[in-house]
Amino acid sequence: MTAEAPISAGAEFCVVCGRSDRPVVDGECADCFVKHHPLVGVVDYPTVVLCPTCGAREVGRHWERAGAPTLLTPEDLLPLLRPLEEVGIRRVEWEEVGANPLVRDMRAVVHARFRGLERATAVEFQVHLEHRTCPECSRKSGHYYTAIIQLRGPEGRPVGRHHDDRPRLHRLWDRELADARSEWRKALSWEEARPEGWDFYLVDTVAARALARWLKGRLRATLSESPTLFSRKDGRDIYRVTYCLRVPRPPPSPGAAEPRTGPARARSGSSDEDSGRVER
Ligand SMILES: [Zn+2]
Ligand SMILES: [Zn+2]
Repeated sequence: MTAEAPISAGAEFCVVCGRSDRPVVDGECADCFVKHHPLVGVVDYPTVVLCPTCGAREVGRHWERAGAPTLLTPEDLLPLLRPLEEVGIRRVEWEEVGANPLVRDMRAVVHARFRGLERATAVEFQVHLEHRTCPECSRKSGHYYTAIIQLRGPEGRPVGRHHDDRPRLHRLWDRELADARSEWRKALSWEEARPEGWDFYLVDTVAARALARWLKGRLRATLSESPTLFSRKDGRDIYRVTYCLRVPRPPPSPGAAEPRTGPARARSGSSDEDSGRVER
């Protein structure tokens, strides 16, 4: 770019540096703008959750990339950057400037396009590493869990093909979980269908307890808690806790908030679990 372009009459000039040989947005040229607006920021609490067994990453509510290396890769790091709207990231050079098993100090030199020019901008931030066994590895490793949340209909309600409460219960679960805290959802490992409802297995008892108590209020359910001794470690008893939530029957009025579809057909794939059971 030429340093001294002729100033044309009526050209806009930068209110900061006075130059008028380049485009001006909101009174400022791009050079002046970048001096006090970082082109690239980072997310609030940069975190990568990975499974120490298979290397899978937790992305949103899913796990993906099983078999990935446990070292941080650009695929882990790039989503942690938050460029300004007008900024297009072309390439990033990553450098680990500090190492600690659970916190990595990263320095990124981001080559980005902004208002027609490519610029390099440096960002430094800490990435928190969380190791959590993914549901797949939990299952494979013999169903590791510390708590169960049981979701059930009212006590004494008949179970069986024509009284299947499970589609309704699972809809309620899905609906409430969407509003639940992410650390509670992250503690969930897998679920199993039971004749009378659902069992949700969790890997964190504190989260299970908080989630069960929260659901009790949301679903106007009753809650019972029962610990089971499952092992001893260093001379201390270790318990698993079962939280049983009993959800009342929906009000019978037609057009109620809870839509009722056909009985067992509403949830495909659940019918096999009914077979071989004696109807009561
Ligand atoms: Zn300027
Ligand atoms: Zn895994």
